[in-house]
Amino acid sequence: MATHDYYKLLGVEKNVSADELKKAYRKLAVKYHPDKNPGSKEAEEKFKEIAHAYEILSDAQKRAAYDRYGAEAFQPGGMGSRGAAAGQGFGGFHDPFDVFREVFSGGGGGNGGGIFEDLFGGGRGGGGRGSSSAQEGSDLRYDLEITLEEAALGIEKEIAYRRAAECSGCNGSGAAAGSSRTTCPTCGGRGQVVSSRGFFSVRQTCHTCRGNGSVVEKPCTKCKGEGRTMEEHRLKVRIPAGVYTGSKLRSAGSGEAGVGGGAAGDLYVLIQIKEHAIFEREGEDLLCELPVKYTLAALGGTVEVPTLHSKASLKIPAGTQSGTIFRLKGHGMPHLRGHAIGDQLIRVEIEVPKKLTAEQREKLEAFAIACGDAEAPIAEGFLKKAKRFFD
Ligand SMILES: [Zn+2]
Ligand SMILES: [Zn+2]
Repeated sequence: MATHDYYKLLGVEKNVSADELKKAYRKLAVKYHPDKNPGSKEAEEKFKEIAHAYEILSDAQKRAAYDRYGAEAFQPGGMGSRGAAAGQGFGGFHDPFDVFREVFSGGGGGNGGGIFEDLFGGGRGGGGRGSSSAQEGSDLRYDLEITLEEAALGIEKEIAYRRAAECSGCNGSGAAAGSSRTTCPTCGGRGQVVSSRGFFSVRQTCHTCRGNGSVVEKPCTKCKGEGRTMEEHRLKVRIPAGVYTGSKLRSAGSGEAGVGGGAAGDLYVLIQIKEHAIFEREGEDLLCELPVKYTLAALGGTVEVPTLHSKASLKIPAGTQSGTIFRLKGHGMPHLRGHAIGDQLIRVEIEVPKKLTAEQREKLEAFAIACGDAEAPIAEGFLKKAKRFFD
């Protein structure tokens, strides 16, 4: 770029006002932004040129130097004698994307950063290189095991995990105190470098700036310029009553810190409920098996049964069969949403003794004889069905 007419480049008159100049730049910057012209070298060049032109003409001092000496005043070689007249050094030029961001992210105009999103349909963060160096932090997952009792009552748990957090030494900028970001010397702000391999040229993400296009002058010593450090983070998680294995709780912003002003990711806490010694969960009901002596099942009586939080007594009617299910209302799990509570289901398992003393055996034999062909509801039904097999 030998002798560019910056006014012409931006399509404005020499006596253009600051507002008009900004408007003209905005229009062209949007037109030639690389995100709107993917892969176009010309658009990219143009985008840089207009950023450069705007940077000079929007600064009163630089504009005066330009009006007097032309673009040469800003060439590295031309700085010597002439540049000195216009004020020793202009502190280098900015990344064209920085210029773009500065103009579009408010600071006057009153439109704030919204324009940028409107124009590019951007959601959160900026994926594409150039549009923004901001990167959203990753989401994290934490597996939390709790007991069935805790799931029934709900509980607050403090968890600790490691995550990349904004560096406290530089507030995430990666720059040491007093230093700032400058255009990456390796890629000149493109974020990419082109290398030749035989007949091919390959575009690669710039290693120096990792595609950011800018580097810090003096990196923060705490994070070595990364802007983030690993830290152990403690977080109180409120687990609502009624959660299931597989329930996912989200803590917004508790994931990894973003880079370059990007939003932090979220933390997802995945609930796993430990197996219970007695209870099996079926939806909101809790199922348990209760061993009952055959004599008690025959005679009837009252037994104590464990409940999730304490115990209850259960009436076993005389003649209770194995497999009978009793229901204890309201002793199950609470619904995750709503106020209803499930039931406790108790399945009876009749227990027959494996060993009998001589006396017990004698009495039981006498009892069996006394019973004779007395009614046996299940056996009768069975015999009816199986009759033909015995004939
Ligand atoms: Zn730092
Ligand atoms: Zn670079």
